[in-house]
Amino acid sequence: LPQARQFFVGGNFKMNGSKESIQTIVKNLNSASLPSNVEVVIAPPAPYLFWASEHNKQSTVEISAQNCFDKASGAYTGEISAVSLKDLGIPWVILGHSERRTIFKETDELIASKTKFALDSGLKVILCIGETLEEKKAGKTLEVCKRQLKAVTDVVSDWTNIVIAYEPVWAIGTGLAATAEDAQEIHKDIREYLSTVIGSQSESVRILYGGSVSGKNAKDFKDKTDVDGFLVGGASLKPEFVDIIKSRE
Ligand code: PGA
Repeated sequence: LPQARQFFVGGNFKMNGSKESIQTIVKNLNSASLPSNVEVVIAPPAPYLFWASEHNKQSTVEISAQNCFDKASGAYTGEISAVSLKDLGIPWVILGHSERRTIFKETDELIASKTKFALDSGLKVILCIGETLEEKKAGKTLEVCKRQLKAVTDVVSDWTNIVIAYEPVWAIGTGLAATAEDAQEIHKDIREYLSTVIGSQSESVRILYGGSVSGKNAKDFKDKTDVDGFLVGGASLKPEFVDIIKSRE
């Protein structure tokens, strides 16, 4: 029997929001009656992290950064240290998001190195993987996911504090989510691949789906056994985020 994997919903605000709008989101989440069996993590932009953390009174909700570097300190102007995040009580960080990979040219190796450093610093990591539309059309979806994962399995052996987010790039921000059936199939393949590298640990690693998840389509994934939650962009800024959190009820 597979081990129970707690349903997980992450909200990636990306570079959006103001003090006022983020306050509204945090307040709404804090006053909603969220199911206690769902792990909810929100990732505000870096300037708001500490503030959001201080104002978050809902124990179900945890705070995440959207990025950090693979060095503790030093002459790295503009970068975010995993050690600082830990120091501020921020438990999570998103790494390897496709926007970091494409716009900021982060390589598999850098993302793997950041993942290792963040874990070693005591953070938990939401590790994003996923193929572009071109790669999908070329039938390379699994190959790309494996390559992105392998960079990390090469340097990290304990996957306890990693959550994988499978986010096909063509589905991000397009309103064109993968079907629940397609997501289930690739998630199953990802888990099978992971099991060949990290063994039975793969049964407890959560694999989230991300890419145009909404209050409307979240329920479609309900009976998909390898879809352990969602990483939500646009909809995490809206009241429907709560519907996504409650989609397994
Ligand atoms: P989206 O973004 O939900 O707006 O498609 C998802 C993500 O980039 O994490």
